[in-house]
Amino acid sequence: MGIRERLLELKSSLPEQVTLVAVSKTKPVADLMQAYDCGQRVFGENKVQEMAEKYHQMPKDIQWHMIGHLQRNKVKYMAEFVDLIHGVDRLKLLTEINRQAKKHNRTINCLLQIKIATEDTKFGLKKEDAIALLESEVFQDLQHIHISGVMGMASFTNDSDQIKTEFENLKTTFDILKKIHPGMKIISMGMSGDYQLAISCGSTMIRVGSHIFGARHYT
Ligand SMILES: *Cc1c(COP(=O)(O)O)cnc(C)c1O
Repeated sequence: MGIRERLLELKSSLPEQVTLVAVSKTKPVADLMQAYDCGQRVFGENKVQEMAEKYHQMPKDIQWHMIGHLQRNKVKYMAEFVDLIHGVDRLKLLTEINRQAKKHNRTINCLLQIKIATEDTKFGLKKEDAIALLESEVFQDLQHIHISGVMGMASFTNDSDQIKTEFENLKTTFDILKKIHPGMKIISMGMSGDYQLAISCGSTMIRVGSHIFGARHYT
């Protein structure tokens, strides 16, 4: 099977309320265009420069999602066009996104990254920190960002019971945060290896790369 077949099969298997982010990091524009030609319009990248290059080369009706860990000094390179930033895990980053969005006279949608994995390598806010952020005065003053939901990454393990527990924790955290911030709609969880489990735990947005585009080769 090629990119087209894998993408179409995946799409037809998804419930209607689940958005598919095609994670195209490291892949050439020709591969992305195959997905585009089958109707895919949401693409995820984890490096700002790579995303900006692809943005300039590809049709303008694509929604670009930044899914990687983000440094503040990179925000300016995508503020003009990024549709959703998944990995926001600190107020200072949010403040910079707001500043850059304002320059372009737009509002940028963001997801709060919540730490659900037990490993300490994964980024993200604890539930309590996310609550504090949403209730802070600094946050209330940010007019050019919109917190659309939460994002999480499960532990790197084959133990599906553990992954399930982590996904359930993200759903629970989402429900709590939504009471404080009713504009939240998105739960971004699930990748190639665990998207079905994520959907059964309440995911509304999955980020799938290798299952569509094949294994990544890093040089
Ligand atoms: C690379 C990446 C994905 C996609 O991973 P696959 O296993 O290839 O589906 C999803 N989310 C994030 C944050 C990533 O960096």
